[in-house]
Amino acid sequence: MTKPGTATVNRQSHATERAALHAPAALTIDLGALRRNYRKLKKAAPNANCAAVVKADAYGTGAVRSAKALAEEGCDTFFVATLDEAGEIREAVPTAALYVLNGVFLGTCPYFIAINARPVLGSMSEIEEWAHFNSEQSTRLPAALHIDTGMNRHGLTADEIEEISKDSTILESFQVSLVMSHLACADDPDHPKNDEQRLTFDRLRARLPEAPASLANSAGIFLGSEFHYDMVRPGIALYGGQALAGSSDAMSPVVRLHGRIVQVRPAREGETVGYGAAHALTRPSRIAVVAVGYADGYARTLGSSDAETGAVGHIGGHKAPIVGRVSMDLITLDVTDVPEESVYRGAMVELLGDHVGLDDLARIAGTIDYEILTRLGRRHQRIYLDA
Ligand SMILES: *Cc1c(COP(=O)(O)O)cnc(C)c1O
Repeated sequence: MTKPGTATVNRQSHATERAALHAPAALTIDLGALRRNYRKLKKAAPNANCAAVVKADAYGTGAVRSAKALAEEGCDTFFVATLDEAGEIREAVPTAALYVLNGVFLGTCPYFIAINARPVLGSMSEIEEWAHFNSEQSTRLPAALHIDTGMNRHGLTADEIEEISKDSTILESFQVSLVMSHLACADDPDHPKNDEQRLTFDRLRARLPEAPASLANSAGIFLGSEFHYDMVRPGIALYGGQALAGSSDAMSPVVRLHGRIVQVRPAREGETVGYGAAHALTRPSRIAVVAVGYADGYARTLGSSDAETGAVGHIGGHKAPIVGRVSMDLITLDVTDVPEESVYRGAMVELLGDHVGLDDLARIAGTIDYEILTRLGRRHQRIYLDA
């Protein structure tokens, strides 16, 4: 919705204008940018197959839409965290290999067959179950093996691999379609653990049946070609996160969030705004109340107090800093310095986008871009752009 007389139509305002009048916020997901990021990552690892990690609803962007767009770009392998997530996108990517990172839980093997998904097996008991199930069904279905190379999260230990390598008949009862591990410190290119993990990966996978190998997440791709192996598994970089801190190889932003102004109110110097009376106004102010809160994934740690500044919104070419705490459904922004004609009931304020970067928002919130994206809530109207 545009105020009569304002005619700025860049791509972004165009998108927010498509938001329904009742929508408290618009989450714009730029599938064109997602496609560009995929091509860029593919180019960065030219000799590897570029898979896509679409767990947690494709980092909040919508797994079905995002997976479909990526498949159109040639992506033929997807990773999700859970079996339900695999089921959700199976129809959208009917021919793709679909790996479930959390592996099999007791008794869940038949469900993998039902949707043609592959478990990532990260412990001996999972391997035993998958092997037993395949023998029972007289099949040899594909699965990935996850090796622990220093993360102590998922994956077979060196001792377990030693044990398997003595009698690998158990691995003959199914198809080992991928051997993978995960880097703990890839976002820090100088961290010695990167090379340590790579060497451990080489040493341990040599003891397993020959299979395609995969080690790199988004940041791992930029550690160099020796980290690429047969397949790379980017997540965050696809969705516009900068895989490496301060990297010049910038990804295109995919997600933008705009919140609707519910009202604009004057407030006097010395008055406080919001819960806890945490922020007192130091001048006569205009406050815009915006219909986004922590229930929408806008972190409470983005709020401000007398002692600390918080995040900013952006409207009419101006910054609008948060004043006071973030409520469940609302935030309050100082729009005193924003021209009155841009700030009115019903207008949309950028809370994440071209002027409010994902990295900055994460830093102010005291978290990482992954958490910001995956928490963006369900109340926003989602608008998909695809160029
Ligand atoms: C989440 C995840 C990825 C993707 O990581 P990004 O840092 O988002 O690129 C890759 N591999 C595994 C095992 C993961 O859990």
